[in-house]
Amino acid sequence: MMLKVGILGGGQLGRMLLQAAANYPVETFVMENDPDCPSAHLCHHFTKGDIRNYDDVFNFGKGLDALTIEIESVNEEALEALEAQGVKIYPKPSALRTIKNKILQKEFYKENQIPSPDFKVTQNIADLKQHADMLPAVNKIGMGGYDGKGVQVIRNTSDFEKGFDAPGVLEKMVNIHKEIAQIVAINEKGETALYPTVDMVMDPNLNLLDYQLSPADLPQQTAWRVEAIALAVVKALKSPGIFAVELFVDKDGNVLVNETAPRVHNSGHHTIEANYSSQFDMLWRVILGYPLGNTDHILPAAIVNLVGAEGYSGEAIYDGLDEVLKMENVFVHIYGKKETKPGRKMGHVTIVSKDRQDLSFKAHRIKNILKVIA
Ligand code: ADP
Repeated sequence: MMLKVGILGGGQLGRMLLQAAANYPVETFVMENDPDCPSAHLCHHFTKGDIRNYDDVFNFGKGLDALTIEIESVNEEALEALEAQGVKIYPKPSALRTIKNKILQKEFYKENQIPSPDFKVTQNIADLKQHADMLPAVNKIGMGGYDGKGVQVIRNTSDFEKGFDAPGVLEKMVNIHKEIAQIVAINEKGETALYPTVDMVMDPNLNLLDYQLSPADLPQQTAWRVEAIALAVVKALKSPGIFAVELFVDKDGNVLVNETAPRVHNSGHHTIEANYSSQFDMLWRVILGYPLGNTDHILPAAIVNLVGAEGYSGEAIYDGLDEVLKMENVFVHIYGKKETKPGRKMGHVTIVSKDRQDLSFKAHRIKNILKVIA
């Protein structure tokens, strides 16, 4: 019998999950507001609905065997009600609740002795001002922050006005040497599988994510620490699923958890081509109860994110695609979003090579050649 599995959210992550689902005996369902979203035409059954709305989520999930998410902003009360009725949810609503709220997430790290930057819980700007001793710091909104929108750097007391006048945390600024990501899969039996750690390579001039490289270039001791910490996070969350733990390595070599995503993640896109079992393949194995896959890399890889170019909004044109497709060992993923706008995630390109210099050379070349315009 084919299991019926739903995905809440129909963006690019849902799309890549569905591409992997094509290899498994599973009947797929997607709910999303936009009937032209990247996942709508790849699932067996599409439902138009609001993933943040209780009734929409409950009605979507009630006939299904299992549900997963591609974004955290889902109605978790509905997921709890569905779980009580026997629908399996990946991740468990309890883990999602902890992660969704930055305050609860930070308290969770503290309670479980997981190293993470020091913080204070704050309710509003007046409250922030009580913690001048924490500066320089980063104010993070409790609920609803995403893609950097819920983060404000507070360097000195005059920056407090730029903070969030809403519940959140004030977190000590870390002297970052590197940002890395560690993807971990965990099944119902508690068995785990770790992917090679990913380096988020920053552009030193723009201070923006340049490209991602796997495996990360880390001293062995640090690499072990990262793995141990990421495993501790995932085990303490007590939920099967796939998790992306984002961490900092500071200038003194300390490893600190920044945040965790309870789902497939941008830092694992290269696993489609570069690893034996991709993060998407792995999640189906977890949901459908098959053995965990092999996370080893076939070859090292880099990921270049393809985002809408500044100054262009409208029907997307992929300028330079021809030239990139001529390059060897380069794999282009276009997400099928009709409209581009500045900064919108429109696709990604994976490069595989045993030569790290080749990876960074091609990553830079692709960033220069390929532009999403309108
Ligand atoms: P989001 O989930 O919106 O991406 P993050 O919490 O990951 O937000 O923060 C975005 C970026 O801000 C991080 O990738 C990092 O570069 C910077 N940042 C976040 N927290 C800190 C911190 N405590 N110290 C220094 N930089 C930080």
